[in-house]
Order: sequence, then structure tokens, then C-alpha cells
Amino acid sequence: GKDSPTLLDSLFAAPAARTVPVLVPMPAPKPYSYLVPEHMHVEPGSIVQVPLGPRQVMGLVWDGEDKPDVDPKKLKSITHVFDCPPLKRDMRAFLDWVAAYTLSPPGLVARMALRAPAALDPEPMVEGLRLTAARPDRMTPARARVIETASNGLFWTRSGLAHAANASSSVIDGLLAQGVFETAFMPPPPVVAAPEPDHAPVSLDPGQARAADVVCAAARRGGFDVALIDGVTGSGKTEVYFEAIAETLRRGRQVLILLPEIALTAAFLDRFEARFGAKPAEWHSELAPRTREKVWRQVTEGGVRVVAGARSALFLPFSDLGLIIVDEEHDPAYKQEDRVFYNARDMAVVRARLGDFPLVLVSATPSLESRVNGEIGRYRPVHLPTRFAEAALPDLGLIDMRRHPPARGGFLSPVLIEAIGKTVRRGEQALLFLNRRGYAPLTLCRVCGHRFQCPQCSSWLVEHRFRSQIQCHHCGYAERTPDVCPECGTFDHLAACGPGVERIAEEIDGHFPEARTIVLSSDLMGVKRLRLELEAIAKGEADIVVGTQLVAKGHNFPLMTLVGVVDADLGLANGDPRAAERTFQLLSQVTGRAGRTGRKSHGLIQTYQPAHPVMQAIVSGDREQFYERETTERERALLPPFGRLAAIIVSADTRGEAETHARALRQAAPVPGDIRILGPAEAPLAMIRGRHRFRLLVHGKRSSDMQAFMRAMIAAGPKPRGTLSVQVDIDPQSF
Ligand code: ADP
Repeated sequence: GKDSPTLLDSLFAAPAARTVPVLVPMPAPKPYSYLVPEHMHVEPGSIVQVPLGPRQVMGLVWDGEDKPDVDPKKLKSITHVFDCPPLKRDMRAFLDWVAAYTLSPPGLVARMALRAPAALDPEPMVEGLRLTAARPDRMTPARARVIETASNGLFWTRSGLAHAANASSSVIDGLLAQGVFETAFMPPPPVVAAPEPDHAPVSLDPGQARAADVVCAAARRGGFDVALIDGVTGSGKTEVYFEAIAETLRRGRQVLILLPEIALTAAFLDRFEARFGAKPAEWHSELAPRTREKVWRQVTEGGVRVVAGARSALFLPFSDLGLIIVDEEHDPAYKQEDRVFYNARDMAVVRARLGDFPLVLVSATPSLESRVNGEIGRYRPVHLPTRFAEAALPDLGLIDMRRHPPARGGFLSPVLIEAIGKTVRRGEQALLFLNRRGYAPLTLCRVCGHRFQCPQCSSWLVEHRFRSQIQCHHCGYAERTPDVCPECGTFDHLAACGPGVERIAEEIDGHFPEARTIVLSSDLMGVKRLRLELEAIAKGEADIVVGTQLVAKGHNFPLMTLVGVVDADLGLANGDPRAAERTFQLLSQVTGRAGRTGRKSHGLIQTYQPAHPVMQAIVSGDREQFYERETTERERALLPPFGRLAAIIVSADTRGEAETHARALRQAAPVPGDIRILGPAEAPLAMIRGRHRFRLLVHGKRSSDMQAFMRAMIAAGPKPRGTLSVQVDIDPQSF
């Protein structure tokens, strides 16, 4: 007969080993099964180390019942559980949601939450001293000082106590020997002190107070709620959301502030400190690795109460997050287009929803998406229509470049040059804005017409005169600025075409040789230097500032009374339906740098298209009309937020491979129903780093299940082989 197990066999068999699903930081479609060694405690959210092939990798114990689909004998065991709090349920739900929405492998999303492996085991404890009930055999003045200083009941380091009590460490050793002090291990000091909600409250004006009531009420209730603070630059939005932060701190919960250019917001950190008595912890790519580990650790344990960070801070596993602020919510820097493609603004809303806490979006020029959500009542709109106190918005004017052209070889209209002269003579500051790094965007041979192009990308090489290089702004390729044309061999007939900030600074120097001119551009200096330059400008140590979009955002320059926009048409040329919105936002932001402290101020905008609706909206100050127009157009074309978009980018080492695969994907796609597939066409940047790129755009209704369609489309198509890769971008920035 058959070998069926006997009763005794089954009673004495080894118990089935427990297995759990573990997400590993790889582009795998699902978690892998691992055995849990006896006596090891793990739960969903535990951070563990597991063998993967020949390596040991970090992993995240995942939810759900584990059903190993391999031979149990082949399963490997978890090697280590890190001694840190498991990721909470709402955080795990968030990671899951982001993976499903962006069609990304969950392991890659989980990796964003686990960024700091060295932070996973606790920091070594420091030995500290604490007062006991014992008294010394005799009192000396030094002993009395030490005891008095330490009588707050806290732990002290030996050197800290000696310093604070102005006593030598031998005095402390004496007291220790007599049992007046005991030693114990104490937790490592916090990376930042705790902010106090009522350290230095500001009295709000009536408009701000009304706005603050709305966001504070949401913070007090504590449940999911989205407010959109929509107020002109300088209207005091920051002070309003500080109130919501104070309320959240009073309730003992953590706060996350997302900022688009965190590395440059030293002034913001100081302002936060003035209000709350301590700086928030920073989180961005410029942090030193040690600091990064400490911040990660203390955020997970709850020691850090407030984080100010770039988009990646959204993936920090807070122990008790109770509020997110997204400042400059319209900013394109919130979109990540690398591995996991996501918009941190949108994902912040999801995180607040899943964690059931409030969120505040803040902007002087909200995205169309957020405006519409405000209008239809999903978000709570909060308006601040005027600047705080006596500060007035700058008078804005257009310079029609057809009527007031620059001198030969120059890029600045005489009208603008005259205004700069007047400003500088008054002892005030002028800012010239051009969103282009370097000296000239294109170098051309005047004899044969050869243009210098990046060998790996479809883009021109940009001349950087300070460095004597021509550079690609997409892949970093650089070569010495040539003097011979590689095409026709002619010497010294190469022409720099068009302006970058360096060239504008040169033109300014020609007109105002006495003035102190600063060029601000990310390629000219590191973050530290930029911070110093920004401080110097705020203190009035420059007369004229020439800068890229770095200078457009958030800064407060009290002496700045003139902003000149060198080329307002720059962003309108690329045919993207979002171009008008982006240009409007950028022009509003940059002109908003002027007149923040009550002096009369001006913005002058150089354009060849003065009749363009964006230019008209800027000078008339009629934001509402502009937004309405844009909204109507988007609605007619069923573009976001009235319809949905997704892109598939196929890239390969050869153009042919990429194009063939993109066509095959389209051919095999399921019958689209209410969804349209456009393309394939060359992607907006047809080649980057030697990779050729084709793009399919998928356009659906608001109600379409885009994720399901995209998944089906990719599953139906051929598997990418060779050098091919396929990347999905839900809600692409440009369309
Ligand atoms: P926004 O964030 O809207 O650009 P800010 O919050 O930076 O505006 O405010 C603009 C300026 O006005 C800042 O210098 C800020 O310190 C000041 N300010 C705003 N509200 C107040 C207030 N209630 N009391 C004192 N100063 C304020």
C-alpha cells in the first residue's frame, strides 16, 4: 500500500518551520520567503538581514501570510534582526500604496524607507553620571557647585558637568568615590533639541489669524484633512503654518515639512529656530552620512520631533507623524524621475490619508491640480491675498524686446539697464534672473555651421567660461572649450550663441564696473558656499545678483527692489501644455523676491511675446483669470486633473531596439476602451547617457483604471531583452 504517515509519525515530526515574507531592496515583483530561526522574534515591519545569493542584504518583514513557492529545504534563514522599532502599519500600507500606484517593485520603494543601514543598530551608549541621595563627607565650594549643577536629576557626562560647574574633574572623581554620584549608561544626545510650541509666538494679523484658525482646527482634530494655503509671496504663509506645527507639537506628535530646495534654506531653519527655540532636523542628500544615520534613528524612535526635508523625507519611518506641510507645493522638484517615479506632493496626501492626520499644502502659485481640488471641495482653500504689513507687491512691467532691443552682442534692453542703474545708485539691490547655467547654451562654427553636441545625449554642449569647458547638462560630459572646428578645421571662428548667467554677468560688468555683482548658479559653488552667498546678499553685501532659479525660491532679501527677468519666453518654447503654468509660477516667484520690506519695488520682464496670456496675467496681477483660462483649456483636452496620463519610456543602447520594442508594446496592448495610446515617439530628450529613448503616452479619463491598463499592457508586450529597459511614469511632468 501507500506510505501514509502513521499517527506516531505525525505526532513526532519536527514542527513546520515558520517562514515570513521579506521585501529585499531589489526590483523583484514580490517579497521572498525566509525561515525564522527558533527564538528569533520578528513581526511585520521588522528590519532584518537576510542572505540573497552570495550577499547579505537588508530586508523588511512584510505583511500577509507567507506561502513559499519553493522547496522548503531550499529556504534560507533570517540572519539578524536589527534593534530598531518595526515600521508601523500605516507606513507599510504607504509603501505598498506607492508601489502599486507607481507600478514600482515594492522592494525598491521599501529601500527608500531603509536608507541608512548603519543606523539600524542602536548607537553605543555613553557613560553618564547621576546624583544619588548620598552626601559627601565634607563640603567645599567646588563640590557644592558640582552638586548644585547636577541637582536637575539628569545624566551628565564627566566633562560636561566639570565644564558647567566650573570644577576640575578630580572634584567629580572624589564625589564619585564617596557614592554621591552613580554612573549609568545614558542614551546618546539628540541630533537636535526639541522645538517648543510656545517659545516665541508671533501675533498674527487678522487675515493670518483666520487662516491659522483653519489649519489649527485641523491639527487639533487630528484626522485626515488637506488645507491649501494660497497666498501671494510675502503674505505670511509661513507664520500661518507655523501655528499648525505648534498645535501638533502641543499634542505631542511629529511634524514633517517638505521643501523643494532644502539645501538652500538655512534662512528657513533660522526662522524656525527663532519661533520654536530649536532647529528642525534636516533631511536631504547633502547630509553627512553620520548625521544621516542619527537623524534616521531618532526619527524612528521619536527623539526628533520636526524634520525639514527634501522629497525623500516622506519615506522616513516616523514613530508618530501627525502633520505634513508641503511648502511650494507646485514645485517641479517634488517629482522624482529615477527608479521609483513619484510626486512627493501627491504621495504626501496619500501618507496623510493612510496615517489619518492633516496635511497643509502651501504656495503663492498653486498647481492647477491643487487649485481644482480646492474648488471642488476636496481640499480646504485658505487665502492670504495681500502682503504682510506695509510691504506691497512689486509693480510689474513688460519690456517689449521688439521695441527696445538690446545693443549688438548684448541681451539686456536699455530700459532694464537704466532701471538697474537707478536701483544701484539708490543703494538698493537688483536681481537679474535667467534660468540657464553657464555662459552660452550653444557653440557654433561660423564657417561651416557645426554645432557642438554631447556625444551621449541629444543636447548641445553649454559653454562654461569660468571653467573653460563646454559641458552637457544631462550627463555631465565635459571637454575644454575648443578653438578649432572639428568639422572644417577652421581656427578661431567659433561663436558662443545665446546667453547664460555668466554672460549676463559679463554684460552687467561692462555697464556697472563699480557695482558688486554676484553670480549664483549651482554649478559654480557647493551648497555651503551658496548658503554664505545668500546670507551676504540678504545683508546687502552685493548690488547686483545674477542667478538661475536657485534665487527664485523663498528667499527674503530686504534690500532687493528690482527684479529683471532676462528671457521670460524661455520656458514657453517647448510646446508642453504645462509650459504656461510653469512660466507663470516661475515669473511670480522670482518677481516676488522684490520689495519684501515696504520699499517701492519693480519687476521688469523682457519678452518678445508681450501679448501672451502668461505675460498679461503677470502684469495685470489677475491670477484668477489666468487660472480659469488654463483650467478651461485642460478641461477641454481632458488633461490632468480632468483626465489621467501615464508614460512608458523604452530605452536601449541603439535607437532601433528602443523603437522596435516601443512599437511592439503598442501593438500588443489590450483593447483600450476609454483609454488612448499615443506614440511611440522619441522622448522629449531622445538620448541620455548614450541611451536612446522612445515614449508612449497613455491618456485616460478621470475614472479610468490607468494602473490596471498599464500593467496589462506591459504584461502583454514582449519581455525586454538585451539592453532594453522599460520604465513607467504615472502622472508625467511634461506631456
Ligand atoms: P510667505 O511665506 O507668504 O512668502 P512669510 O511668512 O515669509 O511670507 O512672511 C513675509 C515676511 O513678513 C517675513 O519677513 C515674515 O517674518 C514677516 N511676517 C509675516 N507675518 C508676520 C507676523 N504676524 N508678525 C511679524 N512678521 C510677520
